[in-house]
Amino acid sequence: SASHPEPRIHRLDPATVNQIAAGEVVERPASVVKELVENAVDAGATSILVDVTSDMKGITRIRIADDGYGMTPEEALLAFEPHATSKIREIGDLHVIRTLGFRGEALASIAAVAQVTLVTRARGEGAIAGRRVVVRGGEVLEDRETGAPEGTTVIVEDLFYNTPARRKFLKSRNTELAHLYGTVETIALAHSDIAFRLVQNGRERMATQRSAELRDAIVGLHGIDLARSLIPVAGRTPFMRIGGYVSRPAESRGSPFHISISINGRSVASRPIVGAIREGYGTLLPKDRYPVAFLDLDIDTSLVDVNVHPTKREVRLSREREILSAITDAVAEALGERDLSRDEAGGE
Ligand code: ADP
Ligand code: MG
Repeated sequence: SASHPEPRIHRLDPATVNQIAAGEVVERPASVVKELVENAVDAGATSILVDVTSDMKGITRIRIADDGYGMTPEEALLAFEPHATSKIREIGDLHVIRTLGFRGEALASIAAVAQVTLVTRARGEGAIAGRRVVVRGGEVLEDRETGAPEGTTVIVEDLFYNTPARRKFLKSRNTELAHLYGTVETIALAHSDIAFRLVQNGRERMATQRSAELRDAIVGLHGIDLARSLIPVAGRTPFMRIGGYVSRPAESRGSPFHISISINGRSVASRPIVGAIREGYGTLLPKDRYPVAFLDLDIDTSLVDVNVHPTKREVRLSREREILSAITDAVAEALGERDLSRDEAGGE
């Protein structure tokens, strides 16, 4: 109509902005774990504990403790600000990025839809120079000095207490736990150099030792039998190093669920790479089957665009065709170098 009503456009308040942003990255408990464990990895932790508490209804509490470099008291509060990060300064830094995080949104997002308690002490600071910050629904409830071990502990409670729509979409407790376990496993496979421990209601559910070898992480997560049956893959191009393991053709599965791919320490989902691995099997693999594979790729960071999606599980690769064909070649070569007739004899 011609009459001019009150102005309808207004800026959203910061709490609402953060809640909306949280919708992109905080989908379920497993996404909280992903973000917090990735922060621990980025902080140079050598050991990371994921401690989950659940009751009949669901996951009530998530605690992640690391022995990384921690934060100063000022940083502890700043870490909750949206777009506050220590990992990049400008967009160009994304071309050389080695950290898993860079968006500076995770802590702000999680604290917008839950109660978060952060206890941290920077490496080399005195024992009482720790800081404890509690934020609930974006509101700082507490910010004070505390005694704390070096490193960082983050506790998340009351997830989605103020976003009932999101809470309603949560699946059963066991489904959410399965996603959470999968998340920890995926990150542990991309970082065999870190000891991971997953505890649920006081019971250890998963553990890896610190090791330079990916194989040791596979042993810890999948057992010695699977690890023994795998074939090492190795390859090199001027801009990429390929490492990892693939299964013998006889070990194939009905879904790509058992293929884990990491690029520069970041666990990624990539149909093209799954395709390239399968192609390496040629006719050894029936049409609708997938191998078990743990592929560890080190690719020149300038060829990897990690800023594709807020969850950062997808990456865009430059020179993708060369990368894919090198992967196919490496897998084919690995399979060819092993006497596959042993498969028909039923393994070792
Ligand atoms: P991002 O990881 O993208 O930088 P986050 O919101 O996840 O954003 O974290 C914000 C900042 O808080 C990080 O850049 C880092 O400096 C600090 N931080 C978060 N978690 C930890 C941790 N476990 N140890 C040390 N510093 C941390
Ligand atoms: Mg982060």
